[in-house]
Amino acid sequence: MLTDYHLHLRPDELDASVASHHTRANAERYREAAGERGIAELGVSEHIYRFKQALEVWDHPLWVSFAHDDLDAYCAFVREQTDLKLGIEADFVPGREDRTANLLQARELDYVVGSVHFLSDGALDMEGEYSVWNSGRSVEQVWGRYFEMIAQSARCGLFDVIAHPDLVKIWGDPHRRPEGDPRRYYEPAVEAIAEAGVAVEVSTAGLRKPVGEIYTARAFLELCVQAEVPVALSSDAHRREDVGAGYAQAIELLDAVGVRELSVFERRTRRLEPLGADGGSAMAGSSEAAAR
Ligand SMILES: [Zn+2]
Ligand SMILES: [Zn+2]
Repeated sequence: MLTDYHLHLRPDELDASVASHHTRANAERYREAAGERGIAELGVSEHIYRFKQALEVWDHPLWVSFAHDDLDAYCAFVREQTDLKLGIEADFVPGREDRTANLLQARELDYVVGSVHFLSDGALDMEGEYSVWNSGRSVEQVWGRYFEMIAQSARCGLFDVIAHPDLVKIWGDPHRRPEGDPRRYYEPAVEAIAEAGVAVEVSTAGLRKPVGEIYTARAFLELCVQAEVPVALSSDAHRREDVGAGYAQAIELLDAVGVRELSVFERRTRRLEPLGADGGSAMAGSSEAAAR
């Protein structure tokens, strides 16, 4: 089986509306793209901060500008009008674990992808006003704090999958990368992920970013394999064309480090399935889910 769980049915632009993207036809386009690539198991995980209810968790100005949609309408749409698993990409906001738990536990999700996009108020993956890279921290401080947050996000118990766990490398800029072997940052994070029993995401999104590499780095993934951390495979696509993008490279990496199974989720329970593309089962998966 192949999975693509970390999917967005719309781009990150503010004007990408629910009305034009959260439609049965759009979900079917994603399902078709996945089928062409032998991906049987699909789920959608929209950003939590696109929903009004996220402002109960955090009121970062960026969230305030994006939080327009209704979370329950999203859940109902995915359940009633699509054959996709229902997930969400939720930011880890330290100190707001209880509020995040209240929001997540009130919905019947299949899985929660947990992300670290911010260190305090500074975004890792944005340039400009809200960028952490303009916050006066050294590169070592940014990397150190980032991987501490990854460890905390695993331990907090809110998430099923730790998303893009080395997002901090996104810019591929040598001035934004500490000298020497990065495993000193990875090791405590992987230890926390293993102890917490959560899955780690292998995401091809990094191939489409300036860094041009899969998340996670091979060295990070090797530590995960040693610690027997389960893997969840995703593209983090925000448009149909990117569903399953770069999977040949991801599968090569998974094979090289000895990953043979992928995590599959249903109602927040994980099981493992043998890794591998299967056009036939992609179609079967579609009709079976549609009949549900
Ligand atoms: Zn993300
Ligand atoms: Zn995402």
